[in-house]
Amino acid sequence: MYFKNIFLHLGLITHHRWLVFKLCCRAGEPWRGFVHDLSKYSPTEFLESVKYYTGTHSPITEAKKEKGYSKAWLHHKGRNKHHAEYWVDNTAPDETPIIPYKYAVEMICDKLAAGMAYKKKDFTYEYELNYWMKEKEKIKINKKTEEFVTAVLSSVVKDGINKTINKKNMKKLYKKYCKDN
Ligand SMILES: [Zn+2]
Repeated sequence: MYFKNIFLHLGLITHHRWLVFKLCCRAGEPWRGFVHDLSKYSPTEFLESVKYYTGTHSPITEAKKEKGYSKAWLHHKGRNKHHAEYWVDNTAPDETPIIPYKYAVEMICDKLAAGMAYKKKDFTYEYELNYWMKEKEKIKINKKTEEFVTAVLSSVVKDGINKTINKKNMKKLYKKYCKDN
């Protein structure tokens, strides 16, 4: 059973990374798409995810349910700047600094691609926006970054991917929500 999951999980990672890459290319950040989630191939992340593979949702969620925590997630969030959790430091005066542009863009592409990879035919942009609206209440994230992500995902619902996920529009929205003043 686990043996089969090795290939299923490999396929899922590859498919997800391909979707992120295509979205990142649209957004003008191909390199972020190319190197996205590479730590998932490390033994710490790979083996746990194979063990808790479901195909319908993140194996990390599954590991947390069973063990109370996920080693793969702790490893992943500490190395991947496209996760809000990477940017949290409880002991710093600024606990949640603004996430730099390229990682914030990668984060949004990741969210959309994860929804697409797991929900398949049932995926909608509304689903992704609603998922984020609940998620943002649970995580620690810079207010400005949060507003940027909300604005982009709302725009995807309203105007679609083409009009929203492109370099010019993403830069414009980031400037609007994330520039200091
Ligand atoms: Zn990631």
